Parts: sequence; C-alpha cells; structure tokens
Amino acid sequence: MASHQFQTEVSQLLHLIIHSLYSHKEIFLRELISNASDALDKRKYLSLTDDNFKNMEYEPRIDISFDDGAVKKLVIKDTGIGMDEEELALNLGTIARSGTKNFLTNLSGDAKKDSNLIGQFGVGFYSAFMVADKIEVISKKPGKDKAYIWSSDGKGSFEINETEKADFGTEVILYLSENGNEYANRWQIENITKKYSDHIAFPIYLEFTETKYDGKDDKEGKKEKKIEQINSASALWKKSKSELTDNDYNEFYKTISHDTDEPLFYIHTNAEGTIDYTTLFFIPKRAPFDMYQADYRPGVKLYVSRVFITDDNKELMPAYLRFLRGIIDSEDLPLNVSREILQQNKIMVNIKSASVKKVLSELKKLSESNPEKYTEFIKQYNRPLKEGLYSDFSNRELIQDLVRFKSTTREGYVSFAEYVAGMKEDQKSIYYISGDNEETLRNSPLLEAYKEKDIEVLIMNDDIDDIVTPTLVRYKDKDLKAINRSGTVDEIKSLEDKEKEKEAQPVVEKIKKALGDAVKNVVASSKLSGSPSCIVMDENDPSIQMQHMFKAMGQKDVPDIKPILEVNPEHDIVKKIADTNDDLFAEDLSFLLLEQAKIMEGEDIKKPADFVKRLNRIMSRTS
Ligand code: ADP
Repeated sequence: MASHQFQTEVSQLLHLIIHSLYSHKEIFLRELISNASDALDKRKYLSLTDDNFKNMEYEPRIDISFDDGAVKKLVIKDTGIGMDEEELALNLGTIARSGTKNFLTNLSGDAKKDSNLIGQFGVGFYSAFMVADKIEVISKKPGKDKAYIWSSDGKGSFEINETEKADFGTEVILYLSENGNEYANRWQIENITKKYSDHIAFPIYLEFTETKYDGKDDKEGKKEKKIEQINSASALWKKSKSELTDNDYNEFYKTISHDTDEPLFYIHTNAEGTIDYTTLFFIPKRAPFDMYQADYRPGVKLYVSRVFITDDNKELMPAYLRFLRGIIDSEDLPLNVSREILQQNKIMVNIKSASVKKVLSELKKLSESNPEKYTEFIKQYNRPLKEGLYSDFSNRELIQDLVRFKSTTREGYVSFAEYVAGMKEDQKSIYYISGDNEETLRNSPLLEAYKEKDIEVLIMNDDIDDIVTPTLVRYKDKDLKAINRSGTVDEIKSLEDKEKEKEAQPVVEKIKKALGDAVKNVVASSKLSGSPSCIVMDENDPSIQMQHMFKAMGQKDVPDIKPILEVNPEHDIVKKIADTNDDLFAEDLSFLLLEQAKIMEGEDIKKPADFVKRLNRIMSRTS
C-alpha cells in the first residue's frame, strides 16, 4: 500500500472548487468525460502511428453506469491511454502548471468572484469531489500487465495500489456523497451528457436497468439491462455552421477549455481549395491565468482527419495569440506528422498563416460590427496583441488596426484610425506619451502645450509600448511621435512662440551654467503653460521607462542618460532666475526646477540630501 500526500496546491484547488463552483456542480461529469475523450484521442493517435499499438484491438468508447442502491455510485469508463502508477500519482496528485501558486494566492476567498477565476484556470478531475466523498480511479495502460487503483476522499491524501483490471483504459468510480446522490439517475446523466458533451467525438454509452412488466398481473416485473448511446458522437467542428447553434459552440468550448464561462467569440472556418482544413477558434471571456507565463499552456489542438495529434505545441499559433482556444483539423497533413518538426511542415505553415489572418480579420470585423464586445476583447487582450506589432511583421497593418489606446481627449479606447480621423487640419503627426503610470502621464506638464491647442495625445502605459511604438514609426502616412522626446513639440509651435523662446536665451544660458553636466541641454519652451519646467529625452536616447526596464532586467551597465530640461520663460520662478544676481540662489532654483520635473516623471531624486538643502535655503529666504 502506498499512501501519498496531495501537493499543497492541489489541496487548495480542491477546497476552492468545492466551495466556489458548488452551484454548478453538475459540470463534474463534463470534466470527466472530457478527460476520457482526451485519453481516447491519445490512444487513437498511437493506434495509427505506433507499431506496438497497431496490432491491438481498439474500440474507442466511453461507458457510464450507476448504482442507485444503498451505496450510490457513478462509474465513467474509457478505453483510452490509461495511467500507470507514476502517472496516477503525478496527474492526480500534483499540478504541474507554472504560475499555479501565484494564481491561487491571488484569489479573494469570495466564492462568487473565485468561481469566475477558477474557470480561467480550468477545473478538471478534482471537480468530482463536489459530488463524491470517495473516488477510485482504476487504470491499465494498453499492452501492460499491471493495473493500479488510485483512491482518495479528497482530504489531503491518496493511495495507489496494484489491482486487477480486465481491459485497458481507465475507470473512474465516484462514491456519491449526499450532494451527489441525484446523479445516480438515468435521466440526470443523459441530460447532462447531452447538454455538455453531445459533440465529444467518441460514443458515450449509458447502462441502465429497465423493468419490463408482462401483462397486468406481473407486479414484480422483469429487470433488464440496457445499453444506449447518449451522445451524437460527431466532431462538432466538422459540422456545417448552419447545423450548429451558439449553444452548441458554447458547450463545446467548455469541454475543450475546462472554462466554466462561455466564450466571448468564436470563429469557425471550413477551408477548401489547395489545402483542406477546418479550424474552430474561441476567445475566452477572461484571459487564461497563465497568459503572462513564459511556459503558458497552449490552447489549440491539432487533429489530422479527426485524429488528435497534439495539444501541446506552441508552434500551432503565434505566441501573441496564445489566448486562443480551439481546434485545427486537416486532411492534408500526414498522420505521422512529427510533432517536433510541425513548424517546418509546409502545409502546417500555410494553415497557420491563413488561420492567423482569418482570426485577425474576424476581430477587425467584430470591432466594426460590435464595438462593445470588441472593447471587452481589448480589455483582456490588448497587451498580447501589441506583441504582435513587432513579432508578426506580415500582419502588422492588420494588427495596427486592432490595438487600442487611451487618450487625453476621449473616454475609453481609441484606435489609430479614430485618432487620425480626429486630427487637426495642420497637425502633422500622431502624438503619444509613454510611461508606466497612467496617472503620472495624464498630469505630465508635457501635455500642456497639446491641451492648449486641443490636440489629442495617446496615453501609452503598457510595459511594452515603449518597445513597440518606436518600431512602428508611422501609421499609414502619419508619423508617430513621442511627446517626451526633444523636438516633437516644435511641430505645434507658432512663429510667435519661437520668437519668445529666442528672447529667453539669456536665462537658458544661466540655468545651463548652473546645472553643468546634470543635464544634456536646457531649452526654453513657450508651450509649458502652467508648469515652470519639464524633462524630455533626446531624440535618440532611450526613454526613462526603457532605462528603468533595462535596469529591472538586470543590465548593470546602463549608462546614466541625461535628460533635456525645458523651462517656461513666462513662469515666475524662471523670471526670478533671470533677474537675480545671487549665483547660489540661481543655482538652487535651477536644480529644483530639474528635480521637480524628474519627480513628475516618476523618477527618483539621486541625492536627496542636496535636494533638501536647496529646498531649505529657498524656504528660509521667503519671508
Ligand atoms: P487537465 O485535464 O486539465 O489536465 P485534470 O485534473 O482533469 O486536468 O487531469 C489531470 C491529468 O490526469 C490529465 O491531464 C491526464 O493526463 C490525466 N487523466 C485524467 N483523466 C484521465 C483518463 N480518464 N485517462 C487517462 N488520463 C487521465
């Protein structure tokens, strides 16, 4: 007898599922059927490609039976790939997905909220403990002699022992708890299976007993065992769209994604031509919990002529579309297509690129036909989509039309196209301000010039904006310009402005001298209306956010890149500097102008002691 403890995360997940999904407890059956179907898929692949499996008899099927006697039981049995001792311990005792710990600690403890989040994670096998107080899993791998039984009451530990099993595959036996009693019932099982698992590609049979009465006098009746198929067992994606309802798609999505929620959107394509293939993609309402993990679990499964090939290949879709769930099925790929070199297969490459184009163009259509729904999409997936701007050059134009930004003059999200449509007549470029904090950006003195002229500025505060946007250079025929770069504001200045700046040359020189090599340059800017100063970066220098990012990524030798200080010659403080003969006073004011501008950009003051000294000197001057 071998007793094992559940990994801590499993215990936590179990607890969570039981408490947050309680009102949907019937989904346990969908999860178990879905696991059985995956196991049948895996064996089917081997039966066609692996010599050891080819000679074995194989009838892929799922059998459900129940016992409504004193001890109520429900049994789900498949003829699939099975699990040995080690796999039982690993698959039903640990969670190998990275980010799990983090995900679990971020849950709120509020059952309602968490039930949504758990959907993003995927529920799976453990949901069966919502209806059972003991579960046994008996399994024997095809071609092997030994069978094993896993058993647990879901309370922290499980046991694995050797056992006997006549046939190959897996049998899950639920000892139904009081909460699950109702499922030892023919109609319940039939209804739930039809509702959730009708389009599982393998037949699901239900065994039940029927009592036959032989005329009026036969009070006892004769019990007869019956077996009936209870699902339609056709691959849903192979049906034509007209045969399917939204509900069919939604339920199918849940079986393949283990999500508890409905999808936001689906795209079903049947392509016929040089290559025949079918794709069915879903976009989850909420981003999968591991979307930002480098080792995220891919969500697209590959089939060849309805035979499952792999669900673990990140090459099937570009990384920036990693949130997609669904299926690619083609008749034109060889069954024994090596999973490792899929990305070199010409047909696969074509299917992939056509699929990506299809998904992107459907999203574009959605943005036009249903802006509200598209906003829901953007809220979840704007960030990964932006990755596509630099990783998928061939679709850059399409993606440029799909990404959205916040802006200074409108609520919600704006597209490049909308921005351009709203440009002022003499406006030359698309302006944006980038940084990591939306609030700081919105309050930046740099915006004053644009506000005054009512020119819209895009707010870019996603961490990758600073990498992506400069590489775009332009949208259609419009240049993209960061307003925290020197020179940008010149575009919106009038002749009069420029004249004023020229006149301010003496005070600029004075400040430059006072600051010495603390800055790259000092310039007058007539476009600062309320603030005395701000900093910008030289056109070819990395932005402040990029410098922060380099440091955060562990680059030690990031050179100290100096900013350009812009001062407002109309401002009182700047006038004071112009008028004073006191060198120390001028120096103190100059440094404070620089330092406050840095603070506004979210930068640290390098020498706080010096800063405080200057501040105190200035404060004690004023009476
Ligand atoms: P998921 O299905 O999301 O991976 P589960 O907790 O439902 O998570 O299942 C964990 C693993 O256990 C599966 O990935 C699979 O490897 C294995 N498993 C579950 N049920 C079966 C089954 N009926 N036959 C073979 N393997 C199974």
